[in-house]
Amino acid sequence: MPGTDKTTSKSATLTLEQRLKTLIAQRGPISIADYMADALSHPQEGYYMSGSPIGAQGDFTTAPEISQLFGEIIGLWLVQSWLDMGSPDAFNLIELGPGRGVLMSDILRAARLRPNFLRAANVWFVENSGRMRLEQKKRMDLHSEIKVNWVDRYNDIPEGPCLLIANEFFDCLPIQQFEKTHLGWHERMVGMDPTKDTLTYELAPAPIPLDHPLAKEETAKDKDIIEICTPATKLISQIAKTLHNHKGRALIIDYGHYSSAFGDTFQAIRNHEFCAPLEKPGTADLTAHVDFQMLGDTAIHENTSVYGAVSQGTFLDRLGLVYRLQALCRGKTQEEQEALRAGANRLSAADQMGELFKVMCMANPELEPPAGFENG
Ligand code: SAH
Repeated sequence: MPGTDKTTSKSATLTLEQRLKTLIAQRGPISIADYMADALSHPQEGYYMSGSPIGAQGDFTTAPEISQLFGEIIGLWLVQSWLDMGSPDAFNLIELGPGRGVLMSDILRAARLRPNFLRAANVWFVENSGRMRLEQKKRMDLHSEIKVNWVDRYNDIPEGPCLLIANEFFDCLPIQQFEKTHLGWHERMVGMDPTKDTLTYELAPAPIPLDHPLAKEETAKDKDIIEICTPATKLISQIAKTLHNHKGRALIIDYGHYSSAFGDTFQAIRNHEFCAPLEKPGTADLTAHVDFQMLGDTAIHENTSVYGAVSQGTFLDRLGLVYRLQALCRGKTQEEQEALRAGANRLSAADQMGELFKVMCMANPELEPPAGFENG
């Protein structure tokens, strides 16, 4: 139909922002979760689908991109976990949101000291961006002996013994926000400011009953905000079910807080700087801090053992960051040694990533406590 063709070609020339504005103008405000999902994962214009987000040339840098020490130490932790599981002949080595594949590449290199670990590993990448998959494939070509599989969702992976790693994945799962008024909890929505033709926050007029421990606290004041990340709790439940039925451990690393707390942590980063989350959707990374208490409580509820969260600095120090750094520095030039030291410092110093980032482990309850989580 000519009419249909016209509509298609017109909508193809609109930006994501324009289309969101039209949608909101026609149907009313959308939730922050819907906004975030579209801005990050829209099949054509989503941030991870169209941009080149990670690394010095991109918008943000992650721990494995900063230093190979990160992936190597995690690789050794995974090898130890595999030994603790009784060295199964086959297991799923899963990474959620592998970015440019650097972390897995460093893990596999470090794991070469146990060839049987590599022979047993079936690598699964949970990745919904075709563009990121291409980058990952390029890096995995360096490990041609390893079989790598890509899936869109965790649930597409066949059940079995598993070791899972997720670095800076949970922070990009869509959140909802709820704000307290004298009437109760109202969802914070993304609407339109008609006078300025810009996207803006507004509260849903009707309060809703909120199933969240903080919502029941008598200390909640007007304007307090609760963030809820339903995809995160669903995913944790799915992982916990696997870990309940099979030997394995999952390591979740992200920025966030130990205990659930009020506050707005929805943020955007473009070109290594904070920017306004509602400006130019699809062109900035959108994230929210991870509520580790909520993740841990969800996993415990599903009968999984939970360790931590501990700070990333503590975790890496306990796993011998300093010794690994010394070993790597041997035979290197002064300049190379300084770069290695600077990288290690950025990962672990309290005023860098060491405190803001946390590490939590979920594990099959029959396994002994994992390395790195001694005393908490
Ligand atoms: N772990 C990487 C990069 C994290 S960036 C690192 O440490 O460098 C987030 C990654 O998760 C990207 O690869 C992005 O494409 C992917 N991603 C984001 N949302 C996703 C979703 N809902 N499902 C699957 N993958 C997702």
